[in-house]
Amino acid sequence: MSGTGTTSERVLRGIPVSNGVCRGKVLVLSNREQTIPHLQLSDAEVPEQIHRFQEALMLSRRQIQALQHHLAQSMGATDAMIFDAHLLLLEDPMITEEVLGAIQRKRMNAEFAFQQVTEKYSAAMAAMEDEYLRERVSDLKDVTSRVLNNLMGCLDEGQLGSLSEPCIIVSQDLTPSTTAALNKKMVLGFATDIGSRTSHTAIMARAMQIPAVVALEKATLEIVSGQYALLDGFNGIVILNPTDQTLFEYGQLVRKQLSLHENLRDLRDQPALTLDGNRLLLSANVEGADDTEAVKVSGAEGVGLFRTEYLFLNRDTAPTEEEQYQEYQRMAEALKPHPVVIRTLDLGGDKFLSHVNISREASSFYGWRAIRFCLQQPEVFKAQLRAILRASVSGNVKLMYPMISGIHELDQANALLEQCQDELRRDGVPYDHKMEIGAMIEIPSAALAANALAKRVKFFSIGTNDLIQYTLAVDRMNEKVAHLYEPTHPSVLQLIHTTVLAAHQQGLWVGVCGEMAGDPVMTPLLLGLGVDELSASPAMVPQIKFIIRRLKMPEARELAEFALGCECGQEILRRSQNLARAVAPSLFDY
Ligand code: PEP
Ligand code: MG
Repeated sequence: MSGTGTTSERVLRGIPVSNGVCRGKVLVLSNREQTIPHLQLSDAEVPEQIHRFQEALMLSRRQIQALQHHLAQSMGATDAMIFDAHLLLLEDPMITEEVLGAIQRKRMNAEFAFQQVTEKYSAAMAAMEDEYLRERVSDLKDVTSRVLNNLMGCLDEGQLGSLSEPCIIVSQDLTPSTTAALNKKMVLGFATDIGSRTSHTAIMARAMQIPAVVALEKATLEIVSGQYALLDGFNGIVILNPTDQTLFEYGQLVRKQLSLHENLRDLRDQPALTLDGNRLLLSANVEGADDTEAVKVSGAEGVGLFRTEYLFLNRDTAPTEEEQYQEYQRMAEALKPHPVVIRTLDLGGDKFLSHVNISREASSFYGWRAIRFCLQQPEVFKAQLRAILRASVSGNVKLMYPMISGIHELDQANALLEQCQDELRRDGVPYDHKMEIGAMIEIPSAALAANALAKRVKFFSIGTNDLIQYTLAVDRMNEKVAHLYEPTHPSVLQLIHTTVLAAHQQGLWVGVCGEMAGDPVMTPLLLGLGVDELSASPAMVPQIKFIIRRLKMPEARELAEFALGCECGQEILRRSQNLARAVAPSLFDY
């Protein structure tokens, strides 16, 4: 963005993934392949850039001295001397003078000026005849990257735990495991270059109620650490250097949202009942037993999707059967008599384990993921099945398999479950013999085989996040095709319809636990299609309950009938928005 000043208000647009507004200082996470931003400064901005440069030099000096001290203690003073060369380069007056000159005279931002100057020196040193000087090139590169990291936000993902002040994180992407580890007190919100609404990072942000915007494309190039920004997670906007007028307008939005929240809170103990008396089960999606309180506060009646893979992330070894049991038991006990639907491990896609050696490619959304992984790792799978069975006596536990594509996987999974039941019986360990087993319907082949699958389970839960990505061949992580990710696409709705019909014909209940269930625009349509349960992030549960309580079934069914006969997904979306806005206008007032 050369040619643009850094103090005037500027708006970056992306995809809104987690509601809320926040404002504060930005911290741009370093990324090894990151391009250095090039800003054209105004006169007024020069002193700040000089200050940033000097601060980064001082911080780098302290870091190098600390490293030197550490090395001297562990390996001896001679080895530690290699850092003397780093310190000399860091304080080289020729380099420093030239950088300051580039900031003052050429109006370059500090990181760009520093990179330009050190690159010139590196090239000159590499061409020298003197071997000693040639060898110093790698030292200069090392020092350069340290100073640049310090200038551009010296943290990488792994260091997010050590933030010292609240800030808005800007990064190319954040992994689900990093998001899970974010300290909510220090992270006001986050903005990423890539991602989409149903990436697990976005789902985590909603669960943690951290405002977030993704798919900003070049945010990491256009924003520098230390800038002041406002992040609007309702509309997918990041505003740099917001004016007083903008801050005032957003203040009003925040006040409106707070009063809406207060109204919604009053619904907590009310049932999810339509105006004409149709009762829905409204549950919550969780990532661990620590979410129990959030479920209760949200007014959900239990858990419709426990994503158990989060127990496996951010650790060096897999959790033991006992650890898993404790986690499931705690949630089942706390929420009983409400149901807790525990989904077996769904690793892969965008969720990886550090302690299992699988390449990202092998475990892609189309690869070695979820039930496919579990059936080939029976010991891992059986430990989890046993833990769930053991927890089943503590409450109303149900078990559900992810990524079922047809009857064979279901039969194999059920055979392993039976083995576990036999083992527990033999050992005298109690479990609920009537625990309901369900299948996620998130692969088109499963929706089309719903009749056959329905004979083998007690319920279905439709995972629209994956069902949409597989039906439309749209990678749910890829912001470049995010516009094709269309929940109201007629083919997607046909698959949901087919699943509901098959379930109801055989006396099964059917829920939706993908993000469609947490979008109030979709609530009338899903009700009209006949689903019995909706399971959403606890943050969205109050809004979904609010709209359910303002709907009448005939209008929801009429919408669904229209949708099933309509060829155009956008037209279906428009009708859904119109109905949702007509019955619950305050939910869309932002
Ligand atoms: C889904 O695919 O809709 C779902 C709920 O599962 P996940 O988002 O964990 O893949
Ligand atoms: Mg899924």
